[in-house]
Amino acid sequence: MGFATDAIHVGQEPDSATGAIVAPIYQTSTYVQQELGKNKGYDYARTAHPNRKALERTVAKLEGGSAAFVFTSGVIRLTTQFLAQWGLEFSFVDTSSADQVERAIKPNTKMIYVETPTNPTMIVTDLAAIAKISATHNATLVVDNTFLSPYLQSPIALGAQIVVHSMTKYLNGHSDSLGGAVILTRSADAEKIYFLQRSTGAGLAPMDCFLVSRGIKTLAVRMKQHDANGETVARYLEDHPHVKCVHYPGLPSHPQHAVAVRQQRGFGAMISFDVVTLDNARKVLNRLKLCSLAESLGGVETLISHPATMTHASVPAEVRERIGITEGIIRISVGIEDVEDIIADLDQALRAI
Ligand SMILES: *Cc1c(COP(=O)(O)O)cnc(C)c1O
Repeated sequence: MGFATDAIHVGQEPDSATGAIVAPIYQTSTYVQQELGKNKGYDYARTAHPNRKALERTVAKLEGGSAAFVFTSGVIRLTTQFLAQWGLEFSFVDTSSADQVERAIKPNTKMIYVETPTNPTMIVTDLAAIAKISATHNATLVVDNTFLSPYLQSPIALGAQIVVHSMTKYLNGHSDSLGGAVILTRSADAEKIYFLQRSTGAGLAPMDCFLVSRGIKTLAVRMKQHDANGETVARYLEDHPHVKCVHYPGLPSHPQHAVAVRQQRGFGAMISFDVVTLDNARKVLNRLKLCSLAESLGGVETLISHPATMTHASVPAEVRERIGITEGIIRISVGIEDVEDIIADLDQALRAI
C-alpha cells in the first residue's frame, strides 16, 4: 500500500468489539484478568495499552522500522546534563561535514546522532555518507526525523538503525498533544527500549496516543500543503529587501541543496531568515497578526519564533553565534493556511523595519 493508505489504515483498524470505525480511547489504568495468568493481552496501562500499541504500529510502518515505542516526549535531549552522570561521553560535531564526523570518532564511539535539517539553521546532513562511516566503525546511526516527517524523508532506507521523532510536531500536526517516538530495526534494541518504556512509566497515555493517531491520518495531505506553502514563503522571503538571508534547503542558494534534492522527497515548511538585529526581529514579531508567536512547530497553523531568546536561550551566546543562531534569526513553521494570507501577514510585519 502507499504511504497515505498506510497512514490511515495501519494501526487504525475498526474496533473489533463494536465495529466503531475509530477505536475508542481506553481510558483505564488496569485490565481485569479472566483467571490467574490469563488476560486479553493487557494487564496494566504502564506496561501497554491498546491506543499505544496501535500508534506504535502506525509509526513503525511509516518509517519502515520493525518496531516502535512512543513516549511522553521527543526524547534524548538529555546528553550533557543527564546521561553524562552515568559516564557517557559526547562530542558535538557539524554532521554536514562527513570529514568532521570521521575525525570525531573515538575508540569508544557507539552512536552517531544526527538531526537533519537542523533546528533552526536548516543545515542538511548527507545521511547515506554518515551511515557508511557509522557502519565502518560499528556505531549505531540515530536520526531525528521530526522536521521532515516520514512523508518527506526515510532515514532507515538511507542506512540509519534508529529514527526518533517529536510527535508533538508534524506527526500529530494539530498542536494539541505532546509525544515522542523511537522507531527501531533490530530486535535487541526493541527489547531494551520496551523495558525502558514499561519500567520508567514514560509511555504515552491513551488520550495522547488517540490524538496523535488521529493526526497521522492526514499526514500525507498536510505535508503536501506544508511543502508547497514552505517553498512559496521561502521564495518570497529571499526576494525581500529587509531579509539578509533565508535558510531553506529547497532554495538553490542553500549550501546543501543538492544533498536535500537527493535524499528528501520535498523540503518541508521549516524556514529561518535573518533580519540582522534583535531590534528588527522584535519589531517584525510584535506586528504579526495571523502568524502566532510561539514555541513548537509542525502544526496546521503558522508558528513563528525567535530562537536566540526562546527555544535556544539556554545555549551560551558564543556557541549560538558560532552555530549561526544570531539575534536577527527568525524561525517560521509555515502552516497550511492559504499561503497568500501568510505572505500578506509577513509583508505587513516586515514593513515595521
Ligand atoms: C520539539 C523537538 C524535540 C523535543 O520534543 P518534545 O516533544 O518537545 O519533547 C526534539 N527534536 C526536535 C527536532 C524537535 O523539534
